[in-house]
Amino acid sequence: MPQPLIDRYRDFLPVSSSTPVVSLGEGATPLVELPHLSARTGARLLAKVEGANPTGSFKDRGMTMAVSKAVEQGADAVICASTGNTSASAAAYAARAGLRAVVLIPEGKIAAGKLAQALIHGAQVLALDAGFDTALEIVRQIVERHNVSLVNSLNEYRIDGQRTAAYEICDELGDAPDALCIPVGNAGNVSAYSLGFGAYRDAGRTRRVPTLFGFQATGAAPLVLGHPVEDPETVASAIRIGNPARGQQALGAMESSGGQVEAVSDEEILEAYRLLARREGVFCEPASAASVAGALRRASSGGLRAGATVVCVLTGHGLKDPTTAIQESAAVKALPARLDAVEEALFG
Ligand SMILES: *Cc1c(COP(=O)(O)O)cnc(C)c1O
Repeated sequence: MPQPLIDRYRDFLPVSSSTPVVSLGEGATPLVELPHLSARTGARLLAKVEGANPTGSFKDRGMTMAVSKAVEQGADAVICASTGNTSASAAAYAARAGLRAVVLIPEGKIAAGKLAQALIHGAQVLALDAGFDTALEIVRQIVERHNVSLVNSLNEYRIDGQRTAAYEICDELGDAPDALCIPVGNAGNVSAYSLGFGAYRDAGRTRRVPTLFGFQATGAAPLVLGHPVEDPETVASAIRIGNPARGQQALGAMESSGGQVEAVSDEEILEAYRLLARREGVFCEPASAASVAGALRRASSGGLRAGATVVCVLTGHGLKDPTTAIQESAAVKALPARLDAVEEALFG
């Protein structure tokens, strides 16, 4: 197992020698060159492949911290509202720690892989007849009334843990990249990257911080519109959020870096999703592809400097959402089990 994230970046995390480290070997994810997309855009595009984390998303970086601190503080259980990946991660880390996990999800709205994870790890899964935002509101009230630890990204320890992705990128590149492109849902992750890059520069580990570009889906773009969205809708279920808890913080972070938040359409997201899979061999979930869709959009409108080093955060693994992958691909061809039929299909 890789060294626990908490041990690798202990100097940058609010832990002590008495904090029990709950780890599944998270972090140390690959930073993969994207040669096809780099040639297409004129920038040097790299993907931070967060799907390589133990439960298949970046949420594990925050969850190792949140669950370790919950154990340290003597919580009876952890609880979250989730579009899917937070519940998968919370369920796994709680199982590891021997804690009870409760997850509230929007009914019928979470990808199959994520639901499977929450269930197999033994979380109590409650499906609400509501969107993510209402589920989060209920969770916030539960933790006020019971000894249960909230592990949504409102939990500061989640953000502390998620900063480590910025540290890894800087360690690998030898400095901060010119720009970071990242999907934005509840806006915790872009806030964490901003804090991470800032902390690394302040510690003298890098000379600069990157420009931060956040991308929401057109049908779930409250930060672009400047007001909450009542019924957010997008194929990118992980960012189907109408009222981001860290919206103001994230907007401030992006603006002060010289960047901004923008919307990309579902068509652009799915185009980037297919390109990554077919031309680069990288399979991410649809929400993750919003970062690459955004980079492509910026490149085509002159918004990416030629030769700039641009890291796109691929937040979750493609296997999380097999339904969309199959839907977006050509149908499987059924044939009789005969050589001539196979040859005919292959060579005409
Ligand atoms: C959680 C998640 C996001 C959004 O992150 P926020 O911190 O909510 O902005 C994006 N992509 C995937 C795959 C996620 O699981």
